[in-house]
Amino acid sequence: MTVSLQAEKVLSAIREAEKKYHRAPDSVTLVAASKNQSIEKIRAAYHAGLTRFAENYVQEAIEKQRQLSDLSIEWHFIGNIQSNKTKWIATGFDWVQSVNSYRVAERLNRARALHNPLNICIEVNIDQEPTKSGVLPQDVLLLAKQIRPLPNLKLRGIMVIPEKNHIVAFEKTACLQKELIQAGVLLDTLSMGMSHDFEAAIAAGSTMVRIGTAIFGERA
Ligand SMILES: *Cc1c(COP(=O)(O)O)cnc(C)c1O
Repeated sequence: MTVSLQAEKVLSAIREAEKKYHRAPDSVTLVAASKNQSIEKIRAAYHAGLTRFAENYVQEAIEKQRQLSDLSIEWHFIGNIQSNKTKWIATGFDWVQSVNSYRVAERLNRARALHNPLNICIEVNIDQEPTKSGVLPQDVLLLAKQIRPLPNLKLRGIMVIPEKNHIVAFEKTACLQKELIQAGVLLDTLSMGMSHDFEAAIAAGSTMVRIGTAIFGERA
């Protein structure tokens, strides 16, 4: 199947899931995870109506952004943030979804000066997996409060990458988001759900799904 057909299929599956799980129409945003996918495939997805793309590697992203500069794309960074790359990440993207420490937030804030505020999500290690990056659930509120005064960042929500097929993690994440909101942290984004589990994520309350292989096929 072509990328544009697959993109349409994923979009309609999202709209169906919104209906099925009594979510408001268009309450779930699709971000296409385009790491290791070609410029041609990204263009095809764009022309099928997708405008938000997420990248994991700074070098690769910079090259793609250069080649796609004629398109009006909202770029998300979802990869591991190396401290020597924060400047590129802070200025080259509209969203950074993988903020996992105050140190990183502070560096992004400094590098973002003179721009409009950078949208960020705190990456949460919801299953408390020792090998995974992200903030532990019990530490998210403190970090959110530390980030709040940083003028060049706009904290939008939390992002998770649960273990494969761990549906309960989506509900845990949705609860955490509610607790944060009750504690006075303004959040409008719950970024969870990938190719194999986005419907379950939408059922649990996801507002942003990050989908790669279901749109583009297997990564090169
Ligand atoms: C690659 C990636 C995705 C998309 O994964 P697929 O299984 O290809 O849909 C989503 N989120 C993050 C953080 C990723 O690195």
